[in-house]
Amino acid sequence: MIELDTRLDGHVVSARDARRLAEAPLGLVTVADLLDHLPRRYHQRGELTNLRDLVEGENSTVHAKVVRHESRTARTGRRYDVLTVTDGTAQMTVTYFNPGRSPARRLPPGSIAAFSGKVDRFRGQLQMVNPETQPLDDGTDDDPDRWARALVPIYPASERVTSPVIGRCVQVLLDMLPAELPDPLPADLRARHRLVDLRTAYELAHRPESRGDVERAHRRLKWDEALTLQVILAQRRQEISAMATVARLPTAGGILDAFDGQLPFALTDGQREVGATIQAELARPAPMHRLLQGEVGSGKTVVAVRAMLAVVDAGGQAALLAPTETLATQHYRGIRELLGGFGRAGELDETPPATRVVLVTGSVGAKAKRAALAAAADGSAGLVIGTHALLHEGVAFRDLGLVVIDEQHRFGVEQRDALRARASQPPHVLVMTATPIPRTVAMTVFGDLEVSTLTQLPAGRQPISTFVVDAATHPSWRDRIWGRIRDEVAIGHQAYVVCPRISSVATGRGGEDEDLLDAGGTDAPGGARRAAKAGERQVAGPAEDGSLGGIGVEELLPWLAEGPLAGLRLAALHGRLPADVKDSVMTRFAAGELDVLVATTVIEVGVDVPNATVIAIMDADRFGVSQLHQLRGRVGRGQAAGVCLLHTEIDGDTRATQRLANVAATTDGAELARLDLGQRKEGDVLGASQSGRSRGVRLLELLKDERLILDAREEAGRMVVADPDLTANPALRRRVGVALDDRPVEFLEKG
Ligand code: ADP
Ligand code: MG
Repeated sequence: MIELDTRLDGHVVSARDARRLAEAPLGLVTVADLLDHLPRRYHQRGELTNLRDLVEGENSTVHAKVVRHESRTARTGRRYDVLTVTDGTAQMTVTYFNPGRSPARRLPPGSIAAFSGKVDRFRGQLQMVNPETQPLDDGTDDDPDRWARALVPIYPASERVTSPVIGRCVQVLLDMLPAELPDPLPADLRARHRLVDLRTAYELAHRPESRGDVERAHRRLKWDEALTLQVILAQRRQEISAMATVARLPTAGGILDAFDGQLPFALTDGQREVGATIQAELARPAPMHRLLQGEVGSGKTVVAVRAMLAVVDAGGQAALLAPTETLATQHYRGIRELLGGFGRAGELDETPPATRVVLVTGSVGAKAKRAALAAAADGSAGLVIGTHALLHEGVAFRDLGLVVIDEQHRFGVEQRDALRARASQPPHVLVMTATPIPRTVAMTVFGDLEVSTLTQLPAGRQPISTFVVDAATHPSWRDRIWGRIRDEVAIGHQAYVVCPRISSVATGRGGEDEDLLDAGGTDAPGGARRAAKAGERQVAGPAEDGSLGGIGVEELLPWLAEGPLAGLRLAALHGRLPADVKDSVMTRFAAGELDVLVATTVIEVGVDVPNATVIAIMDADRFGVSQLHQLRGRVGRGQAAGVCLLHTEIDGDTRATQRLANVAATTDGAELARLDLGQRKEGDVLGASQSGRSRGVRLLELLKDERLILDAREEAGRMVVADPDLTANPALRRRVGVALDDRPVEFLEKG
């Protein structure tokens, strides 16, 4: 009896076929592998037609008897088979040019078969060349009409194994399969959601008689994927909630109350509500794991600071981690300013109740860093701010109660696990992201987190207008970018100019900031770098035809300074600058001592300079939608409206230009996230590599299958509560094991 784990080799298919199926890229070794190797699409045979009624050029199926069988030799020496067939209404010849595999060998005169293919005419005679052929000799339950209507599965194939060979192996396998397979979806669940059982699903997927069959199979198999994923996440949530940590109880009259009392603005309703939720969770003895989503500029930092102060009030410490040093430094400054005297314990202008805020990054001098580390270790620093490196460098805390991770939709499950593993009493965790994540993605990628969303922007936020500067079609528009920047600077505002790379001359790495964990990355589908072309560019500034395509910060800045932006105060900011230079540039820009910052995506996240009103993004086509949206969020943060100029040298209607049009059309981040996701493969979203076999998510579409994913989440939650280790459902347990094994949590990981 064969089972799902049975090896194909020796049991199901010949040793030769088994070897070929097992080879890369297919990697099909077991019965389950082959059954899960689903058709990429299905071919519909032509309609069953009388020979007399055949129309040249059409795909048709005929049911006919062989009256003559000849083997011929072409002038080239090649052999081929020619059948003459009839159905009583007319005659046709059928030619097979691949004598080795020719079905003609099984069709002696007198036999009956169905032939399906394109009809043509050769020397006045109807013919089909290499048609699909189905011998129907025994005539019992073989029904040519059914065969004609059936869909032919087309499998993902390799050079050595064609789709028909795979199809043949699958058919053999299906015939051998027991009538029932251990089913990961319990019968009651299947009944609730009207799903076919696993055995039937495979039958319908590999031997469909209609599109409806395929749909039923897919819906069922998607459930397997969704449920597996959601069970993993439910187990994780359960493990987390079983952990014990220190409850951080709210304290009246502490530093949080003092801070609230001197805030220069009123909190939005959203900030207040999320704040209350967080405080209630901090007060419980199980670690909080919450994702705070909020549109760019929605004021997440204040929410985080209030959570941190609540922990300080309860006697603990809080760490704030940013993806870049620039951002960590900015947070340090911003938070110290926001706290005023309450953040200056031990300094002259301390206002009790006070705590200390320290910064731990590479850009901090050795002496200051030692002091900061000591303050973290002895507990005198209530707030410790740094980059993610803080986690890996083993910074010691006296009593770390809360970790806030800012702007990190890329902070994966694994890192969160590492964080929990650090302390004997795992800290509460708050992850913040401005990249709006559609609900189903949040639920899949961040399924172990509870989600809060700040939907409101603080009152008085200014609108941002976005324009695509299509320089390929309108070369003169390039100058308008610089004109617009000059206009804004003339009325006292500031500007960003963003390039996708540091330098177009240097070869080697692309140019995103080193400490931006994953900048660019899969986010920019159009981002193939024109390295070769760039390498040829020797002159700084535009190409001969005026094109600015491929230009980097190091070329653009001097050209702007001597040309279009002469007389303005410009500076560069990118990841290859020494930390202290980056730091002083950011400080000077924030203080209004610089007019224009020519930067890479180091400014993508979090940088907050309200006086900056215009951002020009060069070669915007190389960025992904969410990056563009993030970058655009750098302006419109103050009193004046923002302008975002998306420069591109790309011509015509491509996916990249479509992305730019989308970004220009709406500033609603959630809408953009949907548009963006709609253009991407699910694998990219979940971080699954496209190569090799991945048992993770293949059929499931995160946008279209929202209902299904929600249902699966609910079922998974119930299941895991009732039976955490799935002892009652070995089939599902096995799938979960395989999914975890195949790609250790990685397929859940990245946004
Ligand atoms: P993000 O959510 O993008 O991280 P920030 O936390 O950086 O946004 O907030 C953006 C700006 O809005 C900051 O200058 C902050 O001080 C300000 N801000 C935050 N909350 C409010 C509020 N309720 N009213 C007015 N301004 C606010
Ligand atoms: Mg922020």
